[in-house]
Amino acid sequence: MAIGSRAVSYANPACVKSVVVRSQSVPQWRALSSQSIAHQQQQKNLTKTKKQKSSKCSNHSSTAAAQIHLLLSQFRQASATPLHRLRQLADAMTAEMHSGLMSEGGSEQLKMLPTYVENLPHGDEEGLFYAVDLGGTNFRVLRVQLGGKEKRIVKQEYQEVAIPPELMQGTSKELFDFIAKKLASFVAREGEGFEAHSGHVRELGFAFSFPVLQTSVKSGILVHWTKGFKISDAIGKDIVAAFEEAIGRKGDHIRVAALVNDTVGTLAGGRYWNEDTMLSVILGTGTNACYIEQVDAVPKWRGAPPKSGEVIINMEWGNFRSPYLPRTFADEEVDIDSVNPGDQWFEKMISGMYLGEIVRCVLAKFAQEAALFGGPIISPKLLEPFSLGTPYVSKIHSDESADLTEVARILKDVFEIRRTTFQERKIVHDICDIIAERGARLAAAGIVGILNKIGRDHGPTATNGSYLSSRRSKTVVAMDGGLYEHYTQYQVYMRAAIDEMLSETAAQSVVIELSKDGSGIGTALLAASHSQYHTF
Ligand code: ADP
Ligand code: MG
Repeated sequence: MAIGSRAVSYANPACVKSVVVRSQSVPQWRALSSQSIAHQQQQKNLTKTKKQKSSKCSNHSSTAAAQIHLLLSQFRQASATPLHRLRQLADAMTAEMHSGLMSEGGSEQLKMLPTYVENLPHGDEEGLFYAVDLGGTNFRVLRVQLGGKEKRIVKQEYQEVAIPPELMQGTSKELFDFIAKKLASFVAREGEGFEAHSGHVRELGFAFSFPVLQTSVKSGILVHWTKGFKISDAIGKDIVAAFEEAIGRKGDHIRVAALVNDTVGTLAGGRYWNEDTMLSVILGTGTNACYIEQVDAVPKWRGAPPKSGEVIINMEWGNFRSPYLPRTFADEEVDIDSVNPGDQWFEKMISGMYLGEIVRCVLAKFAQEAALFGGPIISPKLLEPFSLGTPYVSKIHSDESADLTEVARILKDVFEIRRTTFQERKIVHDICDIIAERGARLAAAGIVGILNKIGRDHGPTATNGSYLSSRRSKTVVAMDGGLYEHYTQYQVYMRAAIDEMLSETAAQSVVIELSKDGSGIGTALLAASHSQYHTF
């Protein structure tokens, strides 16, 4: 049962630029109204002018149409992700993974952070556990009642809360006090079917989806913010300490048993149900991936090797970059106007926070340079950063009506563009298709890069000496995130690109499993497997 409601705000006030209404280069034929002509000229002259106007008009519209088609084909070309390009990207991802594992700072792009999660849940966990999942757009608080191997998840409840935009750029105290307050009221509503062990302090898993340098499974230092957050005083601080202090200020007794990234939570959730889960990917507001690595392949690992011989690596792959990435003018614009210019290029090309914004930038350019939507007056909304959320992109994309009525409705509702021609709507549809396909194929290249690193890119019969490839017949990718979950065509493009890149046998062995809210449940499961009362 879900309690609470989903209220999502896509606008990022920090990015809202002043709105400019373009009025330059007004073509003569549009600047003249028929009324003023009537007042100025004789009937004879008027007829002549009308003829001229109509001929100029049709010349102009055909020139504008040609110009739009030229821009579109240039954009399509610049965004292309042919197979050889995807292979180059996958190889570049694998190479960066190796560098990042060599030493601290071994890769400038991929942090490749070892996590300290030693006990992945395997089904026999029991009791009541909580999780807080701070993702980017929303945060979720949830509780699960675990019933061991037989009963598994007996009951679960969650609440989702939109993060007020002002808290994303305030102080860490304000942010954690807000979260602690919501957590306290959620705990206070713990009802039937949930039973805390008497004498036990409630335990919580904390999924904090920003780059954190962990020093133990219960502590970690924030390296930097992503996804539009900018709370300077939190950088370099222990996130668990900051959160537990806020919980203490509310007078609650809840202990953080595990600090994890949402990718790690998703991996844990995947493992709980399927032992073949080897990696997890988040495609939500932002993007990231983690996977299970052999500790021998991690030269920068310090301390005693884990008993399992395996370590979970949080890649922080959103910061991947490569000259092979098909970046366009729109990606540059999105990057420059972001709160973290120069960072997270991969994330800015493939994730939910940015896809809508890329589409908007392209539409704005087409409107300005080729009078898409009839010009010359451009809707101020079209020039307003983040006015088009990615859910609209998927709605536009899935419009299969003969005259693209849904596209018309969205252009009207979002950009206040009241009248559009079918051709214009078709161009908007094409732009969404190009941008979503590119994003999905790039995400696929990232996944193949990981499969390559763990020796799973040749299928289960590979004899490349990899320990991992020799013992499993399937490789499950646990997937979580609103973008992947809700954007069907994105899923289709991603799967197609994975299949294109791998041999048939390898492709068949790769299973992508969407675990809705897997990061939250997985994080509660990790609290269970790292409980101080752990007796199972
Ligand atoms: P978070 O990443 O904050 O944990 P989610 O995993 O729920 O949150 O992902 C939210 C993101 O998913 C939104 O920012 C949005 O970009 C994207 N999203 C949500 N619904 C849709 C949709 N219908 N189509 C495409 N993208 C969507
Ligand atoms: Mg999330």
